[in-house]
Amino acid sequence: MLQLGQLKSKLIDYMGVIRLSGYESRMACKFRDDLSACVDEVKIDKLGNVIGTIKGTDPEAPNVMVFAHMDVIGFVISCIEPDGFLRFDRVGGISEKIVQGKAVMVGSETGEYYPGMIAAKSYHGQTPEDKSKMDSFSSLFVDIGAASAQEVNDLGIYVGCPITFAPYHVELLNDRIAGAYLDDATGLTNLLQIASILTREKPQCTVHLVGTVMEEFNARGAMMAARSVNTDMAICLLSPGAGDTPDQKSVNNIVLGGGPGVTMFNFHGKGTLNGNIVHQGMYQLLRKTAEQQGIPLQRCAARGALSDTAYLQLENDGIPCLDMGTPDRYSHSPMEICDLKDLEMVGQLVAAFLSSVDRDFNLNRY
Ligand SMILES: [Zn+2]
Repeated sequence: MLQLGQLKSKLIDYMGVIRLSGYESRMACKFRDDLSACVDEVKIDKLGNVIGTIKGTDPEAPNVMVFAHMDVIGFVISCIEPDGFLRFDRVGGISEKIVQGKAVMVGSETGEYYPGMIAAKSYHGQTPEDKSKMDSFSSLFVDIGAASAQEVNDLGIYVGCPITFAPYHVELLNDRIAGAYLDDATGLTNLLQIASILTREKPQCTVHLVGTVMEEFNARGAMMAARSVNTDMAICLLSPGAGDTPDQKSVNNIVLGGGPGVTMFNFHGKGTLNGNIVHQGMYQLLRKTAEQQGIPLQRCAARGALSDTAYLQLENDGIPCLDMGTPDRYSHSPMEICDLKDLEMVGQLVAAFLSSVDRDFNLNRY
C-alpha cells in the first residue's frame, strides 16, 4: 500500500510527463509499467488506453471500471511563420488570459520535445489600450529561438505538432502541491494506489483500472475501454474544482483538505447539452463507505463542466457512473493546486468502495 510520501513522489513523477491529448504514449508506457507490478494483467488497447485488471473472487459480482485520463490540455501548431515563430490553436479548455509569457514544450514528428515560450508583447512597447485588452489566440505565437521556418522544419517540427505547458511543480505549505498536469495526474496516482491496496486483498468484483486517452480533446476515450472490458459500472477519478479561494466563494462548498469530492451533478451546456447526474446506488454506497472509513465526503454540483461519464453512461445498456476525485484549485491553468491528504483519502475511499461491491449491488437507477 502506498504511503503519503510515496503518493507524493508518484504524483510528481506523473506531473513530469509531457502528454498532450492524442500524444499520450510516454505516459501510457510509464503507467502500464507501474500498474503491471500490482494487477493480474495489463494491456494497451488500440486507442491507447491502458487497462489493468484485478480479477475478483466472485464471477457473479459486477465488473467495475475505475479510470483517470492520461492526457493534458495544450495546443497544436497551426502555422509556421517564415521567421520561425509558431502560430497555434488550443486543444482543450484554455483561456487566452493565462498563457502569455508561459514556458511550453514543442513536440516534433519524431517525438522529441523542445523548450519554447508563448510570447508576451514587451511592456515598453504596449499602448495604454494594449495593457488592459486580452489578445486572442490567433494573435499569439510561440518562440523556440529559431530564426527561420527551415530551422523549425529541420527539427522535425511541422504544422500539427503538439505544444503543452512545460511540466513544472512546487511544494507549498500544508502538504499542497502546485503545478501543471495535476489534471489528471491525481487520478492516475489514485489508480496505482487502489491497485496496491486491492492486490493485497482481492475484491469480490473484477476491477479494471484504466488510464484513458483524449479526455481533454473530446471526452470520449473512456468509451472504447468500457466497450472492450464490457463494464457494468464506472467511477471517473477527476478533480472537482475547489470553491475556497477569494474568486470562487459561494460557487461551491468544496475546500482543499476537506476530503474527496463527489460530483452529484454536472452539466456542460455550451452546445453539448451533456453531463452526468450521479447514480444514486453508487453514491449511497460511497457515502456509507466514507462514514465507515471515517473519511469526509464533499458534494459538488457544477455547471460548465463534464467528464467522460457524460458519454460513458450511454454505452452498453446504460452504465451507472460516478465522478469523484481530489479537489483542485485553478483548473486548466499552468499551475493548479491540490492537497496530498485529499489525494490519499480518495484512493482509500475508492478501494474500500470496491471491496464493498458484491453480486447484490443494484445496477438499476431505482
Ligand atoms: Zn481537464
